[in-house]
Amino acid sequence: MGLSKTIWTNPTEYLRNQQPDNPVLFFAPSVAQAAARRFIDGFPGMVTYAVKSNPGEAMIENLAAAGIRGYDCASPFEIDLIRRLAPDAAIHYNNPVRARHEIAYAVERGVKSYSVDSKSELAKLIEMVPADGTEISVRFKLPVAGAAYNFGAKFGATSELAVELLRDVAAAGFIPSLTFHPGTQCTDPAAWEFYIREAAVIAQKAGVTIARLNVGGGFPNHRLNAVVPQIETTFQLIDRVATEAFGADRPLLVCEPGRALCGDAFSLAARVKAVRDETHVFLNDGVYGTLTELPMIGVIDRMEVLTADGVKRTGPVQPRIVFGPTCDSVDRLPGELPLPADIAEGDYVIWHGMGSYSTVTNTRFNGFGDLQMATVLGLKL
Ligand SMILES: *Cc1c(COP(=O)(O)O)cnc(C)c1O
Repeated sequence: MGLSKTIWTNPTEYLRNQQPDNPVLFFAPSVAQAAARRFIDGFPGMVTYAVKSNPGEAMIENLAAAGIRGYDCASPFEIDLIRRLAPDAAIHYNNPVRARHEIAYAVERGVKSYSVDSKSELAKLIEMVPADGTEISVRFKLPVAGAAYNFGAKFGATSELAVELLRDVAAAGFIPSLTFHPGTQCTDPAAWEFYIREAAVIAQKAGVTIARLNVGGGFPNHRLNAVVPQIETTFQLIDRVATEAFGADRPLLVCEPGRALCGDAFSLAARVKAVRDETHVFLNDGVYGTLTELPMIGVIDRMEVLTADGVKRTGPVQPRIVFGPTCDSVDRLPGELPLPADIAEGDYVIWHGMGSYSTVTNTRFNGFGDLQMATVLGLKL
């Protein structure tokens, strides 16, 4: 102890020095800022950040420093967080179902952009939000595959309803816009094409020229060694299709990525608690901790294993059943993971691409989940 160092070169240096027994998430601000610049340089419109994916203060401060000027918030808590950390940024309140006290709060905090997907929720907004200079984006959904997880199951109006809502928004004097979310970790750019073309049809049927089209989040981060996200291809497609579909009425474009901005900026180190009778591997983190998403949207195979001394294990791998630390039998990672055959108690399993939906979904179930954070210059071991 007695170390004053607060920024480490990489995870290996930290693990070697600290020998942590709790799970550690390593944050590389340089990677977060590079992701932000990649979007700002490549996306043909305004880039906003979906706060829910990782609301850590360091995350938001680094995105703001890199030039992110808009934030997709879902709750008064997130609105407060952004007002405090990025006071001049635009807030888009894009949770389409809100209690009246939440709407009142947003109005009081000067929020000027809301999404909606139902008549009843639009009626609340019309009643409570001053129309003047305020945007309402109608969120619609299509039966489109391509994402790891279907967001349309909860939110989004059908195209027919979206036409009516868009007309009602314009008639009530709000700035009319459209929005969609193709589903998270969407590796198929064609999903955006379907949605953008349908948005043009909805606007045309409603007889409304929309101010903006928000093409959602859903941009993938790097989870599988074999699938490296090519988001520039998606940006180019979005740009081309927006012009083809809308022509002279092309709206301004907005995107609201979550995982694509924060995902690759974090790596996790989980420690091996036991290799039970030389078969099952027990870790100090699992599906009630930062690995919550793995059973839902699939494994991350960007993994490496270090010995307790920080030496990479490079020998042959063997598929293993891997359990988290709680006593719940659900606390098991999906399938079998290819881990070094000589993995041993005290080793660290490192997962890359762990920044999204991990810090926020970590629980203290069974007394575990005492997550540590460390800042590093880079994430390469
Ligand atoms: C969660 C969410 C996002 C971010 O989704 P990612 O798949 O993480 O990019 C964007 N917009 C809305 C409305 C969301 O609910």
